Parts: sequence; structure tokens; C-alpha cells
Amino acid sequence: MIGQRRLVLEPREVPLGGVRGMNVLRALPHRNLPTIGAWCFLDRFGPADTRMRVEPHPHIGLQTVTWPLVGEIRHRDSLGSDADLRRGQLNLMTAGNGISHSEYSIGDEPIPLDALQFWVVLPESARHGAAGFEQHTALPALTVTADTGADASATVVLGEFAGVASPATVHTPIVGAEIVIPAGTRVRLPLRAKWEHALMLVEGDAEVAGHPLARNDTLYLGDSRDEVEVQSTEGALLFLLGGEPFDDDIVMWWNFAGRSHDEIAEAREDWEAASVRFGSVDGHDVRIPAPPLPPVRLMPRSRKL
Ligand code: MN
Repeated sequence: MIGQRRLVLEPREVPLGGVRGMNVLRALPHRNLPTIGAWCFLDRFGPADTRMRVEPHPHIGLQTVTWPLVGEIRHRDSLGSDADLRRGQLNLMTAGNGISHSEYSIGDEPIPLDALQFWVVLPESARHGAAGFEQHTALPALTVTADTGADASATVVLGEFAGVASPATVHTPIVGAEIVIPAGTRVRLPLRAKWEHALMLVEGDAEVAGHPLARNDTLYLGDSRDEVEVQSTEGALLFLLGGEPFDDDIVMWWNFAGRSHDEIAEAREDWEAASVRFGSVDGHDVRIPAPPLPPVRLMPRSRKL
């Protein structure tokens, strides 16, 4: 049992580095909170006019959840996937034991781009398994009756919310849902008391559990709540994240999620050696080299809340 919390996770600006000349806003991992459910990484890139060129790079042990807000993104991976992604659609890539992929904005010129990219850590039962890629273009939507104002609407991107399940493949009890609150509305969103949750304010204004949020803030709520009150004056777009607290200690470094320093070091060597483990992405002659490992052993991140 974690209990109720009300902790604002302010995002920090992080350069993606390497041949990726982009800055992103990152809310998780937080120094005191490595995961929310199995969510282990929350990034927003944009809004910006940009020509995104994220060249091929590897992942292990996690799923990437890409949810564009503005602009189109082309995804290619070592399974041979080649898929354009736009607003309302989900790209879900499962790394398992290893995959590589690239992400480009559409066209050769800078375009308006804004997207959420979140990572979900895989449990022991799935993290050594096969890689996969899914695109979902018809996600379930539902209405949440307002206490005041117009009803809110939700799109269930991942897992389950209010009894409605996303078709996307998940490996832990989890929720990821986009929530739209109309102007002048107060609403109670249903939660599961055994799960921990957080709400990220993407656009507009919102007060969550009585706490006003700034844009891009994520309010961590802990568990032990069966609902949370949200109200907005001008209207808001939020993203609800949550799930069963993830118990394994995870070691995260670069694009890898594992359980030990040695696993991460091996994945790094495999990428640098162009091992078949990560395959190759067609249509590229550049790939992102792994940064050097730090001079100390990588340690698991632990929860300090
Ligand atoms: Mn990636």
C-alpha cells in the first residue's frame, strides 16, 4: 500500500543527444519515483517546427507508446514495419529481448510536431520474449458524466479505464487514457484503489484533486483512490497514467530497461557489434552509436516515497 499522494512531477528539458538534435520534456523517471504502475518514462517532444530524424537505435525490456498530438511521424523498425502515425492513433512497439527502430517527421522540411512518447517496462514474463509492433487506428472512447458543465470524454490508449479496454497488447495491469475536459466542467474520473495513478496536463488549465497544475506538470496521486476530481475553466487535455505498482527493481540506461548492470552492458555491446539481436532498419545508412557506459556500475532505481 502506497497511500494517497499529491506530488507534482515537474518535467525537465533533456537533450536527446547523439545524432538526435532534439530537446524533450521528461517527467519520469523522477529522482524519488522510478515508475508509476509499469510506466517508466514520460517524454513530450514539441510543440515545435522541426524536422525530426531519430536514426535507428535499439531498445530492450520495454514498450514504447507513441501518441502524436500534432503532425505525422514515420516509424520503421527491424521487424520490417513502416508505418505513418497521426493524431488519434497509437504506435506500440514491444522491444522484448531486442529491437531497433527509427522515427522521422513526414517530408523533408520542418513540420509542426507535438507528441507524447512514453515507455512501459516489461515484466519478467515478457522481457526476454519476441519483439513486436502494433498500430491502432480505432481506440475505444467513452464519456464521463460531469458533476458540473459538459461531460468529459476519454480515449483508452493502453490497458483499461472505466471498464473499457484498449485492444493494444499489454503485459501488466495498466491504464493510459487521454482525457478531454470541456470548459467550465467539474468531473470525477473513476480510478482503481489498488492502482497508483498520475495525471499529466497536456493543454489548457486544470485543477486535479484540488491542486492547480501548470502545463506539462504531472500530478502523482499514489493509490487508495477510487476517483479523482478534475475541473477546468477554459478546457483541458490530460493524460491519465496508472497501474498496479511495479515491484521489480529496474536498471534503466540509454534506451534499455533491465535488471542488472551486466544485462545493460551486454545489450550495449550487442548494439555496438551490430549483432543480429537488434536486426537492422531498412533505408538507413546512419545509426545512433551507444554512449559510453558510466565509470560506475549501474544501480537499480528505487522508490523513495
Ligand atoms: Mn526509440
